[in-house]
Amino acid sequence: MSYWPVQPGSHRRPPMKRLRRNCGVALSALLLSLLAFKAFAVAEGAAESRAHAALLRDRAMMGSNAMRIVTDLTTQVGPRLAGSEAEARARAWALAILNKKGFANVRNEPFEMDAWQRHDEGGQILAPYPQPLAVSALGGSVSTGKDGLSADVTLFETLDDLKDAPKGSLEGRIAYVGHAMQRTQDGSSYGYFNDARTAGPSIAASKGALGYLIRSVGTDSHRFPHTGSLRYSEDMPRIPALALSNPDADQIERIAAGGQSLSVKVWVDSSVVPAAQSGNVIAEIPGRETPDEIVVIGAHLDSWDLGTGAIDDGAGVGITMAALELIKEAGLAPRRTIRLVLWGAEEVGLLGALAYRDKHEAAVANHVIGSESDFGGGRIWKITADSQSKAGDTLFSDMARLLAPIGVAAGSDDEPGGGPDLYPLIAAGMPTLRLHQDGSDYFDLHHTADDTVDKLDSAALDQNVAAFAVFAWLAADSDVSFRAEKTPE
Ligand SMILES: [Zn+2]
Repeated sequence: MSYWPVQPGSHRRPPMKRLRRNCGVALSALLLSLLAFKAFAVAEGAAESRAHAALLRDRAMMGSNAMRIVTDLTTQVGPRLAGSEAEARARAWALAILNKKGFANVRNEPFEMDAWQRHDEGGQILAPYPQPLAVSALGGSVSTGKDGLSADVTLFETLDDLKDAPKGSLEGRIAYVGHAMQRTQDGSSYGYFNDARTAGPSIAASKGALGYLIRSVGTDSHRFPHTGSLRYSEDMPRIPALALSNPDADQIERIAAGGQSLSVKVWVDSSVVPAAQSGNVIAEIPGRETPDEIVVIGAHLDSWDLGTGAIDDGAGVGITMAALELIKEAGLAPRRTIRLVLWGAEEVGLLGALAYRDKHEAAVANHVIGSESDFGGGRIWKITADSQSKAGDTLFSDMARLLAPIGVAAGSDDEPGGGPDLYPLIAAGMPTLRLHQDGSDYFDLHHTADDTVDKLDSAALDQNVAAFAVFAWLAADSDVSFRAEKTPE
């Protein structure tokens, strides 16, 4: 655990007193001047590094390529579901653009996955008031069969209420779970409410339900249902599962509150392609002194299929690619390697992140720190880090000072994070830095057909680029270890 800002310079002082005692006068004077020169050179190097960081920040704020990149991705590729032909086109697009920009070690690291495909879906109220419903199948949902599924609905206010339902009480019925997700700046309620989406279907099946409906895990009031992946339990029957848009969820809750029994019909046509191709696209600025040490930045390249994946996560692709580009165009060569990873198949269970961890298992300890951009295109307002070393805290204080003028406050917490695709590396001990974005409207758009590029603001993206460039540059140009300090012998 560490908290910052800390007092810089409280560690690593040269052991002057001991040197004076043990050496002759001339020798100690020579050593002292050498030490002083080294300390001066290190301080000079750090000052120069900070000056470059300030320059990167200012250039980004004047306008970066982030908006251009996300516009091209969402226009020239569009939606790019994990394991699909469209995701393959996104990789080809990324490889071409990264090669054109002249980055080093541009490559695709492929992996195989079972790819879910959506073909058709729909829903309607049969009784008491027949009318269509705006629904979307959850990612991974099985098909209903071509006749659809018609059944009475049992409504639950929360997932916990569904959990409390007696076994067998939902035989022949469709279970519906509502919730009360609230708008927050940091999206903090998502983790809690998305359990209704991921775990809900198998919990409903365990009570005998034939189908599962949820109120979209989202904060908007439009007729855009929010998709997102579900997770079937191995030991439960797999039942079709769909999300209702928030106004449609209001509608069925209103009807049910009237006391009449509610009957709906839903249909899903989906399939799974076994051993489909996905991949992680990688590009680097190689380190000039310790190229084996890696600072990871990136975003995920896949998206859901309803919108064009602009805020999730085209924005992150634009932000991190533009940050890397800025460092390269400034002609800067950091001590360590900066690696951009555009992760594949994040949405369906961090498959790219897990494939990366497996492939790079022997080099995980060389990943000195990482940060992913995966929370839309809102401005960054806070920076937190989980450095385990004092030297790391000092460097983060430098970063915070550089980012303060563009509206980023230093957080006093050290909550772990840094982006979902980093979880496997975090579990393996990699420290992370988190650039917290304002996500007040993120869950209005997340996983919906409304996730399109017109929602992004290029000045806000540029501010994100500035922060990522400052982070990546300073972390890569230092020799600071962010991992736990070894206790001296
Ligand atoms: Zn995402």
